[in-house]
Amino acid sequence: MMQQYLEVRGSLPPNTLLLFRLGDFYEMFDEDAILGARILGITQTQRNGQAMAGIPYHAADNYIQKALKAGMKVAICEQMEPAKPGQLVRRSLSRILTPGTTLEDHQIEAGRNRFLLSFVTDKNGIHAAWLDLTTGFFQVSTQFDCKTLLDHFFSLDPSEIILPDDDEGENDSVNFPPELLEEKSRLLEGRSTSYLPGFRFDNREGARTVRERLGVLNLAGFGIEEQHPALGCAGALIHYATENLCAEPENITRISEFRAGESLRMDPATVRSLEIFRSASGLRKGSLLEAMDATVTPPGSRLLELYLTAPSLDTAELSRRQKCVGEFVEAPGYASELREYLREVRDLPRILGRLKNRLRNPREITAIRDTILQLPLLIQVLDQFEQSPLDTVSRRIRTFPELGDLLQRSLVESPPNQLLEGGYISDGYDEELDRLRSLNRNSRQWLADLESAEIKRSGIRNLKIKYNNAFGYFIEVTKSNLNLVPEDYIRKQTMTNAERYYTPELKEKEKEILHADEKAIAREEELFRDIVAAVLDQADALEETALAMAELDVLQGWAKLAREWNYCCPQLDSGDRLEIVNGRHPVVEQTMRAQKLQGERGAHDFVPNNTQLNASGEQIAVITGPNMAGKSTYIRQVALITLMAQTGSWVPAESCNIGLVDRIFSRVGASDELARGNSTFMVEMNETANILNNSTSRSLIILDEIGRGTSTYDGLSIAWAVVEHLHGKSEKGPRTLFATHYHELTQLERQLKRVRNYCVAVKEWNDTIIFVRQVVRGGADRSYGIHVARLAGLPESVIRRAQVILEKLESDESSHNLLRKSMHKAKADPEAAEEGQLELFG
Ligand code: ADP
Repeated sequence: MMQQYLEVRGSLPPNTLLLFRLGDFYEMFDEDAILGARILGITQTQRNGQAMAGIPYHAADNYIQKALKAGMKVAICEQMEPAKPGQLVRRSLSRILTPGTTLEDHQIEAGRNRFLLSFVTDKNGIHAAWLDLTTGFFQVSTQFDCKTLLDHFFSLDPSEIILPDDDEGENDSVNFPPELLEEKSRLLEGRSTSYLPGFRFDNREGARTVRERLGVLNLAGFGIEEQHPALGCAGALIHYATENLCAEPENITRISEFRAGESLRMDPATVRSLEIFRSASGLRKGSLLEAMDATVTPPGSRLLELYLTAPSLDTAELSRRQKCVGEFVEAPGYASELREYLREVRDLPRILGRLKNRLRNPREITAIRDTILQLPLLIQVLDQFEQSPLDTVSRRIRTFPELGDLLQRSLVESPPNQLLEGGYISDGYDEELDRLRSLNRNSRQWLADLESAEIKRSGIRNLKIKYNNAFGYFIEVTKSNLNLVPEDYIRKQTMTNAERYYTPELKEKEKEILHADEKAIAREEELFRDIVAAVLDQADALEETALAMAELDVLQGWAKLAREWNYCCPQLDSGDRLEIVNGRHPVVEQTMRAQKLQGERGAHDFVPNNTQLNASGEQIAVITGPNMAGKSTYIRQVALITLMAQTGSWVPAESCNIGLVDRIFSRVGASDELARGNSTFMVEMNETANILNNSTSRSLIILDEIGRGTSTYDGLSIAWAVVEHLHGKSEKGPRTLFATHYHELTQLERQLKRVRNYCVAVKEWNDTIIFVRQVVRGGADRSYGIHVARLAGLPESVIRRAQVILEKLESDESSHNLLRKSMHKAKADPEAAEEGQLELFG
């Protein structure tokens, strides 16, 4: 057995724990045992000077997950046949589990995509491939501008990254644009990364590997050229998957090209600050994704995530989705019926993925059976929507009556989740199996009869016939009755307080029984193979049906939200406008309602607000108002509504007109950067530079408190210049919302044609202020900082002192006033503005 072990151990990549199946345990030996015990928090023992540590096989999932989380790979060496008394069991390496290649249900989050990513750079840009091995979703992409794809990688949030080994360590910068190195290392940070030899990324070889895997002569059918420079990466991923599955990944049947220009782009800072996939606390709770997710199936959840990863610029496709949502909104009864049927639908894409990759268990086949049973019901509901846009989805759903019937007849209602011991094929399905099973039942009766007969014959009242794996069947007699043991018993084993015997007759029967058992199990496996083959025969159609159901799920979920939260269907075109009537923040609105329902003190309703922007008209909104007034919430809500609209969802507003946006930029807060040792101000300026350099007149920009991280003058001057730059000299510019506490910036409205002032209104009442959360035209003339400080509970003495100081400052011919005056003087044309600035600094 140790020879078996060492052979497998020697073949593994570095950083891998080997779990070696021994009966009911997975054992680790030597170094693995020491390391494994530490990582998994289990006891390490010694046997004959060898370190050992084991985990029960039925609890392995948890431990494997722990090891993967600790950055280890886990290799599993399985017993390939049932244990037989006194024989060495055949074993072989069955899988290497890594964060990006595990397929097991318990080790992957149901509602999230799970990408394995690979990329290389050369003088033509960046080339990449990503694969969700659990579902077979496979994309390649090439971009001249590296940042475009790098941004997308962050949204994909890969579980594991594969790079060429010449990219490892010192050589990190091979061809990689130096200005993006930091971003690259941020991508790799905390993610499992493996390196393959450079030749694995060869394009010609990659194209061949991909063709072979997909079983096609060329990739034209997938819209991918033979010389596509990302095929090297695609090939590397297939190679890596093959190594870890210990077989070819059988569920890769499609590949498509990701074209960055066809989707709305967001950089990681924007994705983070808009809290799209995770909230600021790092959880899904409080994110846009969670607020938009009313799906009832994992594939639905995953599709929604994909939509948010690459929001669309295609008005026709968006309008199709919107109309489908509309159908459900109009017919809430049918929609909720459909929802109930979808609830019973299992995760077919992943189940099929496992089946195709030889991870087979009877329980998953019954999951397919149960899903197929829902299909006629689903179709019945969908028939109500005939001749509607929903046809585009419904007609992809098939019902599989024959397969459904086969699965219903052949499998028991709730089978075990492994094949080893049989018991999953129904009685009455197969004559041969029925015969073997009845033979077995008879034998058991025979054993029971023998036991009573032997008790009678020997007079030993507690004589028992027992069975165990190591010794087979035996007669057990306790020590106190040894004097009664008949002559013809043959001793087999001595225990502390009993002796075990057999008789030739029992030995004979044992052979018969074990044989019948084995034969029954083998027969079940044979039948199971045919059943699996029947399922796989329909795999493509099943997968297509599953994808259509995922889409239905997303759409019905959006319709449910639309009704529940009174969303409207946004008008989308390629124009310059961004107009929202009574818009709300999708996440804050839900949180506030929940607080109100829980009767939290001070809980209130969300106040809706309008937005009126136009790239060629009211391009820039400068929004002033005291801290806590609701500025950030307002500008984020505009970005989120736009983003939602470009997934095809309805949006939290009364009405909404959006000229599609090519990019969203958001610069809000940077507290998480402090932990990295970057100064907030530096990060803020980096991000601002990115926005100024990359926005187009079709972009949407939201900026919150630019310049806050430095002194008032610096900050104000920078903010001022940024607005001027965004306005520019041409006829159009990016639609921009600029929230600031520098009320001096309201001067800009008079000087720049496309700037409009707004403020978040507050009411003064006695010595305090009341937030009304309403965004209105005009600038705020005061910052109410001291009022807010009072609301925050600063001691009254400090408040009073602050008021005195403020009054003094305001009455002084202080530098602050000088600053204001200079800003006043600045004229529309930049040269004059420059003069203004010079005067200011003079
Ligand atoms: P600011 O950016 O002006 O400092 P925030 O946007 O952070 O203010 O909002 C302050 C608080 O007001 C938040 O707790 C938020 O939940 C609440 N709030 C903001 N906008 C609204 C609104 N339209 N209706 C109700 N509450 C709001």
